[in-house]
Amino acid sequence: MQNDIALFSELCDELFKEEINQPVAKPIPTSELYNQIDLSLNPEGIMDDVFKSTLKQVIKSTPKTASKSFFNQLFGGRINKAILGDLLAVMLNNSMYTYKVAGPQVGIEKQVLKNICELAGYSKNSDGTLAPGGSMSNMMALIMARDHKNEAIRAEGLSKPMALYTSAASHYSISKNAAMTGIGRNQVRLVNTNSKGEMLAEHLEELITNDINEGLQPFFVNATAGTTVLGAFDDINAISKVCKKHKLWLHVDGAYCGGVIFSKTYKHLISGLEHSDSFSINAHKMLGTPLSCSIIVTQHKEQLHHSFSNEADYLYQTDGDDYNLGKTSVQCGRRNDALKLWTLWKSVGTNGLEKIVDKQFEMAQIARDYINSHNDYTLYSFDDSISVCFNYKGIPANELCTALYENSELMVGFGSFNNQEFIRMVTINSLLDKKDIISFFKTLEAFVSDHLLKKPTT
Ligand SMILES: *Cc1c(COP(=O)(O)O)cnc(C)c1O
Repeated sequence: MQNDIALFSELCDELFKEEINQPVAKPIPTSELYNQIDLSLNPEGIMDDVFKSTLKQVIKSTPKTASKSFFNQLFGGRINKAILGDLLAVMLNNSMYTYKVAGPQVGIEKQVLKNICELAGYSKNSDGTLAPGGSMSNMMALIMARDHKNEAIRAEGLSKPMALYTSAASHYSISKNAAMTGIGRNQVRLVNTNSKGEMLAEHLEELITNDINEGLQPFFVNATAGTTVLGAFDDINAISKVCKKHKLWLHVDGAYCGGVIFSKTYKHLISGLEHSDSFSINAHKMLGTPLSCSIIVTQHKEQLHHSFSNEADYLYQTDGDDYNLGKTSVQCGRRNDALKLWTLWKSVGTNGLEKIVDKQFEMAQIARDYINSHNDYTLYSFDDSISVCFNYKGIPANELCTALYENSELMVGFGSFNNQEFIRMVTINSLLDKKDIISFFKTLEAFVSDHLLKKPTT
């Protein structure tokens, strides 16, 4: 093992070097991939030195999500103490289903969940679990809501068409989950948003009333804390009033920006969260842990058990249910995703996590200020968002992003809202500074003037 740890360390050094020298890896066209790197698996193994050089080649060509040129996704960067925890989880290799097999690791997960529940303003009757990602957390919320509305569904299946509500700007997993849980894609109502991408509570009410009149059974509303494109926050207070009136489960999808629960400055964006029934947050987005670290909590602890526990005598042989976390999980064997958040949290404290979150908003404001003070740019996103959406010199966003990627300049993506396409720069890497944000714009401008605006010479 020591040799492989030494090799791992050498490979990390290679990666750190690459991140500086070639922050945007030269993309390999898919048609070329298997020619350029030997990814084949064969009857015989290979020599150590070939093995090592193949790994280095893979590292070289893999997109660098922790580089200073990566603004493409709702995650990015690398925070040491979180990496440490995740590496430790691999080494310890426990499974979270029983206390017998995971010991104190169970306590670590429970501690993280307890603190998240408190920060969310949830009651004593709260609990939660970790899921393999935000999409799965949303699915767990949907299943709890479904079973909460009609307990018989677990045994009998659906007997009556149900309906659920989410905004047109919400994450695609809501519809996908409706399909996967037997509710049906066509029972998903997309609620209109205002011009900032926030759900309109009046339209929600109208859709619910309509469904009731049609004989459907409304049961679930998904509000989003940080929509995928604009980073908008739905008005939880307004939505929860509608939910209370019609007895619907309110879930807050905070996969992207639920991290604001850590910030005194930005917590107001999820005001009313304490009125929701469940809440999910991806620590691998705003809190900067490695993928994946997705947490779902609910104020109906008993529902978590009703929806996800199954008796299994061969597994649950010791200790109480409270410490046998398999009773509240969608998985059976489950890696410890909580440890990386716990190591980070333990080392920097809640105040340190607050700084991580606030830094992202600060970087976004620097980007918006830059855009607003340069005439060649148009801004499409709003304050209090870490998604900075813009266009430059009217160049189609899609074209510009692809050219920047193919020429190894910048990794940044595009999105659209109200039929307007734009570049979406995500300032989620809290290790970046003002100079990195300015450098992003300077790189983009230099690239456009050198490549896109120059007529090809004949
Ligand atoms: C990223 C995201 C998800 C999905 O999370 P995964 O961990 O990628 O499955 C769900 N909802 C929102 C709002 C997101 O931004």
